[in-house]
Amino acid sequence: MKAETAVKRKTAEAWIGLGSNLEDPESQLLQAFDELDALPETRLRARSSLYRSEPVSDIPQDDYINAVARLETGLAPLQLLDALQTIERAHHRQRIAGVVNGPRTLDLDLLLYDDETLDHPCLTLPHPRLHQRLFVLLPMREIDAGLRIAQLGRLDKLIATAPAMRLQKLDR
Ligand code: ADP
Ligand code: MG
Repeated sequence: MKAETAVKRKTAEAWIGLGSNLEDPESQLLQAFDELDALPETRLRARSSLYRSEPVSDIPQDDYINAVARLETGLAPLQLLDALQTIERAHHRQRIAGVVNGPRTLDLDLLLYDDETLDHPCLTLPHPRLHQRLFVLLPMREIDAGLRIAQLGRLDKLIATAPAMRLQKLDR
């Protein structure tokens, strides 16, 4: 993480969900943590362990590696989304028209941005599937077990009601 310098204006707390199931997924995520920390006006404040999860998809594909990061950022929500997509492209993320939930080198989702709610064509906040995904909720709990999410409620309650899935916490 960077030294205590350089964030000048009001900052927000942003939560990012990371996922990969192509081309050495663990390395993709570890590198992405550094790239998030290197974004302008942004610091990586916390990150979860890596988790292995079963794909949520009709397309047969390898297991995913997932994690969550908490950032402090001076970027506005759409600026941050743009920065996340720039990092995805640097990891050779390919989006194929019509293919939903296909395999990917790196997926960076903006889960939460402070308590903001947003319904923009490019950005929904909180992330619309956050509460259904244990591979997001359990890593979030590692960072902040007492978290309360605007509109959705307490994290531990969301975990109790999310659909079961195969998920394994890894040692890194
Ligand atoms: P997935 O839903 O599997 O993560 P993509 O990463 O391909 O799929 O994202 C599809 C679109 O979702 C993006 O082009 C982006 O504009 C939009 N989107 C809406 N809300 C969010 C969010 N909270 N975080 C990331 N992308 C979002
Ligand atoms: Mg995404």
